[in-house]
Amino acid sequence: MSRVIVVGAGIGGLAVAARLARLRHEVTLIERAPDVGGHLLDGGSETIALPAALRDLFLKTGKPLETVAALEPTDLLARHHFPDGSVLDLPNTGLRDVAAALDATFGGRAGTDWTRFTAHEARVWDVVRAGYVEAAPRSPVMTRLAVRHPRHVVRALAGRSVRGVSRHHLTDPRLRLLVESCVSRHGLDPGRVPAPFAVLPYVEQTFRLWRVDGGVRPLVDALAARARERGVRICTGTAVTSTTSTSGRVDGVTLENGRRLDADIVVSDCAVGRPAVSADAISTTRLLLAVTGRTPGMARDTVIHDAAGALHVQVADDGGTGGDESWVVSIPTPPGPDVPARILERLATHGYDVSSRVVSIRSRERVVAARPGRAVDPRAAPGLFLVGDRVQPLGGVAMSTMSAAVAADLIGRA
Ligand SMILES: Cc1cc2nc3c(=O)[nH]c(=O)nc-3n(C[C@H](O)[C@H](O)[C@H](O)COP(=O)(O)OP(=O)(O)OC[C@H]3O[C@@H](n4cnc5c(N)ncnc54)[C@H](O)[C@@H]3O)c2cc1C
Repeated sequence: MSRVIVVGAGIGGLAVAARLARLRHEVTLIERAPDVGGHLLDGGSETIALPAALRDLFLKTGKPLETVAALEPTDLLARHHFPDGSVLDLPNTGLRDVAAALDATFGGRAGTDWTRFTAHEARVWDVVRAGYVEAAPRSPVMTRLAVRHPRHVVRALAGRSVRGVSRHHLTDPRLRLLVESCVSRHGLDPGRVPAPFAVLPYVEQTFRLWRVDGGVRPLVDALAARARERGVRICTGTAVTSTTSTSGRVDGVTLENGRRLDADIVVSDCAVGRPAVSADAISTTRLLLAVTGRTPGMARDTVIHDAAGALHVQVADDGGTGGDESWVVSIPTPPGPDVPARILERLATHGYDVSSRVVSIRSRERVVAARPGRAVDPRAAPGLFLVGDRVQPLGGVAMSTMSAAVAADLIGRA
């Protein structure tokens, strides 16, 4: 049995702690905040992509997900407002229905073109999933894939950006915007994000988007309970200041009170032990608006495409923000004093004037520490592993839990 310290109890830290305890390690999870859950409980987190990642986590650590939380598909993937005035309600019932909705809204060859594009991306997904999302960079999986399916690997990793891919495959500008919006919804610029991420529309439309019945809190509680059942010791309200090492191998952490804890392995779900943010890091903003009253007819996910780019609005129940609704707006710019006013103005221009109903605005910066597409190696140093949405650059629940699976696989049995 080896002693593992996990630093940070976000969804990634909880997931890796539960998995490692299941692999018979003696795990201590140290969280700076008074409660576990990290950004997931920040208000506004709602939708879950790739539910298979969560299902795998709960199954591999004990009982199936369905015994602790119920996932239900969202009613729509999103409502899109295009510059030509057309409005598309994107169904969350699979690729065939998406093609039918495109035919009904845009006419012409829209559905056929989209079906051809997503069939291409299905092959890219095979490569991205096996060689990138479910395995560490430079793993032998990628080499094996490259030998077996060289054309697919080349397609998946071609040097274009997501915007380049959408322009190469699609002629209708609205379909191109649809591809690009799957990246910009994470606050990222489709002109800078590399080609493999053009797979996201295929992934979302195939595996659909889900919500946890009752919100994400029950999910976090269930995961913490699962970790404890497996023997994980969870210490909240304690910050780790740094890792310690001997002869180049990480062998413990130092707590904020100066105490040192020894470990055979340290796993970080936060900035501790990570390289400093690189010069090509991308800074994006998430605005959390607490809004009083309800907005009838508002889709949970609305995307406004205009001359300034795509504006993504995710509307959730209050989420503890103090209003009746919480709106999360994601934009690919660093936070700034004038950003909230600009966003409210843009929303108003498109018929979503909420400025008189906003009771509070919080701004969250999200720094993607590596250029998206350039995977961060979870093996940061001998004895030190990384998990969480900073390892899988697009972030989100699915990617954080998958990164935990990759790290646990690399660490292996005690
Ligand atoms: C407003 C908003 C809306 C979102 N909406 C969605 C959504 O709809 N769907 C989705 O899938 N994702 C969404 N996300 C993203 C999702 O919440 C994150 O990707 C995910 O929660 C990240 O989990 P993590 O474990 O990787 O990191 P984090 O949640 O950042 O966890 C890191 C943990 O480490 C702790 N920590 C930090 N420093 C220290 C230290 N020195 N010592 C000890 N502990 C430390 C922190 O307190 C925190 O608990 C949203 C995020 C935000 C902010």
